[in-house]
Amino acid sequence: MKVRIAFITLGCKLNYAETSTYERELLKEGFEAVPWSKGADVFLVNTCTVTEHSDKKSRNIIRKLHRQNPEAKIFVTGCYAQLKKTEIEAIEGVTSVFGATEKSRIVPTILAMVNNQSIDDIQSPTFFPAYSSGERTRSFLKVQDGCDYKCHYCTVPYARGESRNIPISSIIPQAEAIAAEGIKEIVLTGVNTGDFGKSTGETFFDLIKALNDVEGIERYRISSIEPNLLTEEMIDWITSGSKFLPHYHIPLQSGCDTILKEMGRRYDTAAFARKIQYIREKTEVPGGPKVFFGIDVIVGFPGETDELFMETYNFLKDTVRPAFIHIFPYSRRSGTPAAIRKDQVQDCVKTKRVQMLESICAELHQEFIDANKGVAEKVLFESTDRKGMMEGYTGNYIRVSRPYDPEMIGKIVDITI
Ligand code: SF4
Repeated sequence: MKVRIAFITLGCKLNYAETSTYERELLKEGFEAVPWSKGADVFLVNTCTVTEHSDKKSRNIIRKLHRQNPEAKIFVTGCYAQLKKTEIEAIEGVTSVFGATEKSRIVPTILAMVNNQSIDDIQSPTFFPAYSSGERTRSFLKVQDGCDYKCHYCTVPYARGESRNIPISSIIPQAEAIAAEGIKEIVLTGVNTGDFGKSTGETFFDLIKALNDVEGIERYRISSIEPNLLTEEMIDWITSGSKFLPHYHIPLQSGCDTILKEMGRRYDTAAFARKIQYIREKTEVPGGPKVFFGIDVIVGFPGETDELFMETYNFLKDTVRPAFIHIFPYSRRSGTPAAIRKDQVQDCVKTKRVQMLESICAELHQEFIDANKGVAEKVLFESTDRKGMMEGYTGNYIRVSRPYDPEMIGKIVDITI
């Protein structure tokens, strides 16, 4: 009988890409993937540690899995597992915990343990290549891992280690394998994606130019890129007929220069505004699609007074005017410089600020949709049947739905928004 395994993934696209890779490898070994709610013989939990809430969620899931499946083996990996290995090992029912440098050992260890064999100490390479392939139309391809920036609120550099990558020559075959599965769109993911090339002497620009030539892949998105790493040269190339879509996810984190400095970020609001304007000028033509900007913002960083928060609010509302704002209330992460500051912002104040940004986000998103009405675009339809409807995204990331039709899955279709 096949060993039933369930995968639980928390956190970012990178975790999803990695889980998908563990799944592919274990299915090849004869495992059967089942939804975790149905019970399984083995569970693999890929955790996240971006906020205190993520840690708690990871612990609760592990406890629940053990309660419901006392005989099952539970393996845990991911960023929380790297930072708090002993804390997780102490949870009842946990079989094994793998940190950031042990990802290549996960599949062989699971195989050995379910077969009651011992395993030799496998040396892990420092970069674990991964891509997702659960969906038939879009894949998240991991091109970079780790971060050297050490922003003052962030534990990711401790959880994922230093910035690193495999060479372009090893990434291209992965993109080709994705194309061979019939997938047309790739989302490039990393912790600090634009920092690609640190360990191979290449650049992110070299990478996107090489990927652009992969046959079968028709569209690319960049999951997130630091504003200082998105160069004008790159923007010029992207907008001159490449397969990279007019969709930019850029972390701003604060629209106030005082806070940006205290966060240890590498740009100021003037530089950020210039970059946004440059992209708009280069990409948008009259009657054509508008650029989708998804902007990350943290509210309630220590020392953020009402006045300083209003600088962020006004910068987003008056200058950046993105299509979407990803809003994160600041979470105090032990081991970071921001966590030991005395001027922490109360939770109720953070909640109010989140609500204020949610309200301008709704306004800006509607305005973005309205500005695109009547525009000719292309939609790539996805496979999920949502109560008789199917969805897809335009190049500039507007979600479109239509009655479900299996013939349309994976097709790029001309539409008028
Ligand atoms: S760039 Fe800053 S926020 Fe992003 S992962 Fe690196 S340290 Fe964290």
